[in-house]
Amino acid sequence: MRRQRKAKIVATLGPASTDIALIRALFEAGADVFRLNFSHGTHDDHRARYDAVRQVEAETGRPIAVLADLQGPKLRIGTFAAGKVAVRTGDVFVLDSDPTPGDGTRVHLPHPELFEAAQPGQSLLIDDGKVRLAIESVTTGTITTRVANNGTLSDRKGVNVPDAVIPIPALTAKDRKDLDFALSLGADWIGLSFVQRPSDIVEAREIVGTRAGILSKIEKPAALQQLEEIVRVSDSVMVARGDLGVELPPERVPGVQKRILRVCRQLGKPVVIATQMLESMIDSPVPTRAEASDVASAIYEGADAVMLSAESANGRYPVQAVSMMNRIVTEVERDPLYRNLLDAQHEIPLNTRQDAICAALREVTQIIGAAATVTYTSSGATALRAARERPCAPIVSITPNLDIARRLAIAWGIHSTVSPDVQSVDEMVEAATRAALVEGYAAPGDQITIAAGMPFGQGGTTNLLRVAEVGTSAVATASSTREAALA
Ligand code: PGA
Ligand code: MN
Repeated sequence: MRRQRKAKIVATLGPASTDIALIRALFEAGADVFRLNFSHGTHDDHRARYDAVRQVEAETGRPIAVLADLQGPKLRIGTFAAGKVAVRTGDVFVLDSDPTPGDGTRVHLPHPELFEAAQPGQSLLIDDGKVRLAIESVTTGTITTRVANNGTLSDRKGVNVPDAVIPIPALTAKDRKDLDFALSLGADWIGLSFVQRPSDIVEAREIVGTRAGILSKIEKPAALQQLEEIVRVSDSVMVARGDLGVELPPERVPGVQKRILRVCRQLGKPVVIATQMLESMIDSPVPTRAEASDVASAIYEGADAVMLSAESANGRYPVQAVSMMNRIVTEVERDPLYRNLLDAQHEIPLNTRQDAICAALREVTQIIGAAATVTYTSSGATALRAARERPCAPIVSITPNLDIARRLAIAWGIHSTVSPDVQSVDEMVEAATRAALVEGYAAPGDQITIAAGMPFGQGGTTNLLRVAEVGTSAVATASSTREAALA
């Protein structure tokens, strides 16, 4: 199975996408990464979805990344006896410390910190700001508000208090439990929500170690103050526009998105653009033209991946949403303007051997019109530095480590494969041409470029650039490789 595009698609799994047949259909429609959202669902729900993803991976022979997205210190209201209630402008509505399900007059607020931090005159924004509650009074255990606009409140919707500073740690007790669980499942990426400072990532890294990559979600104004440092200590980043656009005025989100993208591209960290990308497809089989344009713009700007949230987790058209995203991305990548924009934003290589080889790889690939560029990588770094170059040809990444192959599924242009370390240059050329052929990126007679490090099998040694022609002998040995790779 080979994708026809470079940028990737992240699909969130949820009640609308638990069934293995549906997860398989999402993968076939184009999902490269599946996101488990720990803000919702039980560990059993997540395990069932995780197992289904691994089953699809085994069936298709394609490494798939699983992103375990921790809730973080996100504030949420409790539940309602009827699941949801309508509120009207001018109604009095109370948030309190009583865990019994709410109604049209009150709901549980399971965050004691907020009863201390909130003050009259501030606003509580519910459900990504769809309902605004103006705080009139606060006592220990109750916040009394007046509803500022008609709307609907439903179970466990998010609460933002942009004006209040809430003293909450980066990893809550729930996050720590979820993190242990996600790591025990084998999640490839850990999403950290509401990061505010670089030390939030360092703290998580102490627990995660090298077991997974850390993806920092930028959704707090505070994170923008130390953006570069946060990106530097993270393995990838998400522009989490849902909460970002509540904490900041919506008109500031587009500029901030561009700024985050720019920093991530410079530092070579994969960046995911998320939230409301095809929002109307929750209920409709087609997106609005503005949504199609939003997805396309993110790709033109050089994003590594675009993400679906409720569209694939709760919507009526999860498969159509993935397939629509796939079509939009594919169409952008066919546009010669896309290549012009990528070239115009080309990042200067650092003065490392790895970057020098990757820059040369890109040039040689373009000059000779190579069908594919193959990177040998043990930590994933060489493949990511090659992707930072945004070469014309697909990057076929070869690593002996299945975890790394899965993790790379989030990054622009990388088609990951798993194959044992080679012992010699001849073996390297042979395995690279075979991989390019088997994976469908090259045909006999095509040229490919290869980056690797000698001695083979050691990290941090990238020092070799090779051009090879796919010979007919590669065809004979090709067929058994795929099955062996994931076994
Ligand atoms: P969430 O994060 O869906 O977990 O809230 C994404 C966002 O805030 O945009
Ligand atoms: Mn969020």
